[in-house]
Amino acid sequence: MFLRSRILTAILIAGWLLASAASAKEYDGVWFLGLNLDKPIFKKVEVRRAFGQAINRQAIAQKIMSEEAAPQGVIPPGMAGYDSSFEGFSYNVAEAKRLMSEAGVGMDDPRLKNMILLHTDGVKTVAIAEEISRDLQMIGAKVILKQISYSDQSRWYSELKSEKYDMFLMGYKAGEIGTLFIGDQKSGLFHSVGCGKIPAPENQQFFGSYQEAIRAHYAPDPACKPRPGKEPDTHDLLEPLFHWGGSANFTGYKNSRVDIYLDQLEELDPALVELRNARFKAINQLIMLDAPVIPLFYIQKEL
Ligand SMILES: [Zn+2]
Repeated sequence: MFLRSRILTAILIAGWLLASAASAKEYDGVWFLGLNLDKPIFKKVEVRRAFGQAINRQAIAQKIMSEEAAPQGVIPPGMAGYDSSFEGFSYNVAEAKRLMSEAGVGMDDPRLKNMILLHTDGVKTVAIAEEISRDLQMIGAKVILKQISYSDQSRWYSELKSEKYDMFLMGYKAGEIGTLFIGDQKSGLFHSVGCGKIPAPENQQFFGSYQEAIRAHYAPDPACKPRPGKEPDTHDLLEPLFHWGGSANFTGYKNSRVDIYLDQLEELDPALVELRNARFKAINQLIMLDAPVIPLFYIQKEL
């Protein structure tokens, strides 16, 4: 599918952590610990849930991020499908240990030793990585931190895509990968996809959003008038992260029900607000049960 195939236009956000203390917070993204589901240790859902319960997410949200509470799901408050009654992982080390032994993974299991956690170099990101590393010792995991410079986006992206790592820290905002725009390196203009003046392949530079093109100092072509995409919604947050083959699905998550719901939501009339909300809530529940990610905080909108 076109939307999911243009992975290379993605700009991944891992390090931007907003420090503003606005009274009414608005969110459009989620920041999380991603688990590499291709690693044998994470094949069992009990282990993934145990990791979710062994990490003191509340402490991370409050002490490091100055948020009131840790997220209970993957959909932030204020977005379609946010479920205020849903309860995600509670911090419960005893329960985490019980889950681990249920999965047949003892404290001295060799798969728990030398687990690599990939993260970027922001001060808060590093603090979160260290906190997670400490917390996971309680269930026998020895976590090695692997730090990448946030400014080196292409390296960060290729490391993430390599899927070599057991875990990674990243954030994702709805609509970060929006409509595709094509820049012309010769003219400095950028075009919408349907434009008749699309540059020759050697001069093309792709952008995943209008803002991305502007940030790269391109100007909109006055002929085809590229426009920013629609206001991003929950679908734009969940599809890249959790649809099989999604452009930011670095956990290797695959749940065919989630895929079907997301595909249906793409076609669904936006006026059917209640149905959309119900479907997004169902997706949130499925994802949280499968636990491919452990949400750490919601990302505030850039206003
Ligand atoms: Zn054009």
